[in-house]
This record gives sequence, structure tokens and C-alpha cells, in this order.
Amino acid sequence: MGEDAYLPKIQMSVLSPVEEKQAILAAIVESTVDAIISKTLDGIITSWNPAAVKMFGYGEDEAIGKHISLIIPNDRLDEEAFIISQIKAGVKVEHFETVRMAKDGKFISLSLTISPILDEEGKVIGASKIGRDISERKRAQEKQAMLASIVAATDDAIISKTLQGIITSWNPAAERLFGFTEEQAIGKHISLIIPDDRLDEETYIIGKVSRGVKVDHFQTIRKTKDGKLVPLSLTVSPVINESGNIIGASKIARDISAEQASQQEKARLYEHLKVLNEKKDDFIALASHELKTPLTSMSAYLQILARLETDAKNKTFVDKLQNQLKKLSSLVNDLLDVSKIEAGKLHFEKEDFDLRKVIEGAIDMIVHVNPDYSITFESVNSKCIITGDSHRIEQVIINLLTNAIRYSPDSNSLKVYLIEEDNQIKVAVEDHGIGIAQEKLENIFSRYYRIDGSNGKVSGLGIGLYICHEIVSRHNGKIWAESTLGKGSTFWFTLPR
Ligand code: ADP
Repeated sequence: MGEDAYLPKIQMSVLSPVEEKQAILAAIVESTVDAIISKTLDGIITSWNPAAVKMFGYGEDEAIGKHISLIIPNDRLDEEAFIISQIKAGVKVEHFETVRMAKDGKFISLSLTISPILDEEGKVIGASKIGRDISERKRAQEKQAMLASIVAATDDAIISKTLQGIITSWNPAAERLFGFTEEQAIGKHISLIIPDDRLDEETYIIGKVSRGVKVDHFQTIRKTKDGKLVPLSLTVSPVINESGNIIGASKIARDISAEQASQQEKARLYEHLKVLNEKKDDFIALASHELKTPLTSMSAYLQILARLETDAKNKTFVDKLQNQLKKLSSLVNDLLDVSKIEAGKLHFEKEDFDLRKVIEGAIDMIVHVNPDYSITFESVNSKCIITGDSHRIEQVIINLLTNAIRYSPDSNSLKVYLIEEDNQIKVAVEDHGIGIAQEKLENIFSRYYRIDGSNGKVSGLGIGLYICHEIVSRHNGKIWAESTLGKGSTFWFTLPR
């Protein structure tokens, strides 16, 4: 369809030249996208074209005869007085940017051109008004102003350049970061801030950007006006013009010196902590080793003493001494085990053994030291042969039993289960003690971890469960606990068959 198909049909041949001109003008008024309105000097609307209908939402019949204030927002009513005074004086008002209101209450940004309408004698009898919708332009301007204010206010240096590397914009943060003012930078090549040994980076970046690819978080170093080198993180994006061509690059540079300094500080602290930790491990290894030797001789002398004929009082003392010495040895042994684990030197001697027997032996030993305690043992089969280091497994069971008693101040019974499944053995120690809060359960197997506050008077080093975990894991098994605070805990471990 041709363009003129939209124009009202005009029968040119039957019109006089004046009528013909009028008909052309009427056709333009009908078909333009600008609202064209005429009004009397009192502001009464006398004509209202289709574009005005579309723009303001009032039909011709709704608008004609009404006062022009129909479309003027309340706070702009005085504009009309100004416009009319200009028109009365025969002066055209051009490109008057204002806001008018549509029927649905929406505001429309307009550029108005208002001309006087003269009668045959040249007297002003009204005004014609052409209104062009500039909402889009306004919005674009506002958006641009907003972007410009962000660019001006940000702490990141924002620079744009052509694909040839010529700087085309330079924000205040770029001035602060690099020391060059906007005037000093614009028009210069970007190598102004690139250290000599990094000039090839520019080729790489421009290469990517020219292909429409954004370069994100590129960490590099740039040079300031006074020659200082600053570590930066760059994000470079292509600048695309209206026809979709890449015409340059915009670059956001963030100073990461503070970040890098804090990372270096963190790394330094971490190293320091590592050294201190190693020193502590060395000390524990040395101390437990040194303590072990006199303990062994003390234990031997005590055994000789115990065998000597003596009175009942002395015998009690020797018994007590032997008990205390056992506790001390067990602490020293645990410490020694921790250092062995840390040094990767905890060795196992694996053999076939009867786990049931080992559990029974451990229970006997515990009951011997805690005669008030009743420990029940449930197991279906009479034997349970597995492969592993029986002494180390016994150590795990003794540890769990000892904990069950230590952390159950108001109970004097506990249960041990041995459950045999197809491919694994499960052992459980169930107590009715203080229990462990759910969120602490995963920590109790960590080295030196003790639950603050809830342990009451029970003292300890927080290494028993850590050693148990190591022993069970090294046997390819698993260890865990289930617990309800205030009700009790069940410690489980598995061993493969
Ligand atoms: P220690 O008992 O010497 O502190 P462990 O490694 O054996 O060290 O245990 C770590 C922590 O786990 C204990 O301090 C205690 O808070 C908690 N815990 C261990 N066993 C039990 C248990 N049976 N009931 C309640 N809490 C327990």
C-alpha cells in the first residue's frame, strides 16, 4: 500500500486553488502524529485533530467547546495565561517544553508550538497549538542524566576509548585514581596509564572487545601520573552505536590494592598460625614422649612395691597410686597418639580377632574400675571374627564406655550392642547421660573440641573421640553419634567385614 493511502481522498479537480490549499492543510492536520488543537483567546477549544484524540484520549466531541484547562495539570494552569498573553501580542511561542494530562490522568511530556490565528483584518482571534510528544526523549534524557550522575559519583574509574585506544571519556574517579585530569586524558592514547611491560594487554583486550566480547575482572596493573603502579580489576565492554556497530570500549577499573593487601595479610597470618600450630604439635609430641619414660619406670617400681609384704594401710596407698598412675598414663598415651596422627605415624598391626571377646574384655575392665555400674551387652552370635588392630579397637570401645560413664552423672547403667550385617559390623554404646545438642554433634570428633558449659565438672583434653575417629576411619569404618540433649547419647561405629 502506498503512503497516500492513509490520506483522506481529496477530489482536487473540482476545487478552486484556495479550496485546494485548504484541503491539503486539512489532510496534513488529519494525518500528522503531532496533536494540533486550536482555541479561542478565552481558551475554548475549537478544533481537535485525530492525533490529539490519540494523545489525550478525549474524542473530538468531548474536547471541542471545552476549556483548554481540560488537559492542563493544576500546577501548570498559570502557563496558559502566559501563552495567551504572548499570542494576544501576536508573538509565536516556540518549543515550549511542558507537561499535559491525558483523560486517564497520565502525564505526557510535550513540546508545544503555539501560533496566533488571525482574522481577515489581521486581528488575533485565537491560537493554534502543535503538541509533540517528547516523553521518549525526556525518558532517554533522564536516563542519560542518571547514568551520567552515577559515572560522576562512583568510586570506580570509568573510562571510554575508541577501538584505536584514544580516550573519549574520563570520570572523576579516574582523575583521583590515575592523577590525570579529564583535559589531560581525553584525546590521549590509553597507553598513558599502561606500564611498558603490559602494553600487549591492550591488543588482547581490544581484540576481544572488537569481537563484541566483554572482558570481565581482568586483574592487572596500571600506572598513575606520578609513576606509581596500582593493582586493578578491569571490566571492559564494547560500546555499540545505534546501528549496532562496535565503536569503542568502556572500561571500569577498580582499585584492588586494599583487597590485595588484606589477602596478603591473611596469607601472612595463616602462615604464622601454621608455624605456631606446628610448634604446638612439636611441643606436645616432645612433652608426651618425655613424660612417658618416667611414667613407665614409676609404674614398674609401683608393681614391685605392690608385691612386697606390707600393712593394709600401705597397700591402699599403693592401690590408689597405681590407679592415678593409670589415668596419667592414659592421658599421656592419648597425647602421644595425637602427635602420631598429626605426623602420620599412627601404625596398626592387623590380625584376625574376635570382636565379641574384645568388647567383653573392655566391659569387664570398666566394670572393675566402676563397680556401681551395670553394663548390658547384646549380641546375637557367640563369635565375631574380623580383621584389624584389636588393641586399637579396644581403645575405641574403652573410650566410648568411659565417656558414657563420665557424661552420665545421674545414671548407673548403659548398654552395648554388637550388630552383624551382611558386609559390616555395627557397635553401639548407649547412655542415659547429659546428651549433646544437635548442632554440636558434628564437632565432637574434632581435635581438642569440648562442648563448652554442658560438661559440668568433667575434665578432659577433647582428644578421645578424635583418636577414635582416626582409628575407625583407618579401619575403613565410620563413627557417629545420635543424641537428645538431657536424655542421653548413642555412639555408633562400623567396621567392614
Ligand atoms: P573429652 O571427653 O576428654 O573432653 P572427647 O573427645 O572424648 O574429649 O569428647 C569430646 C566432647 O564430646 C566432650 O568434651 C563432651 O563434651 C562430648 N561428649 C563425648 N562423649 C559424650 C557423651 N557420651 N555424652 C555427652 N557428651 C559427650
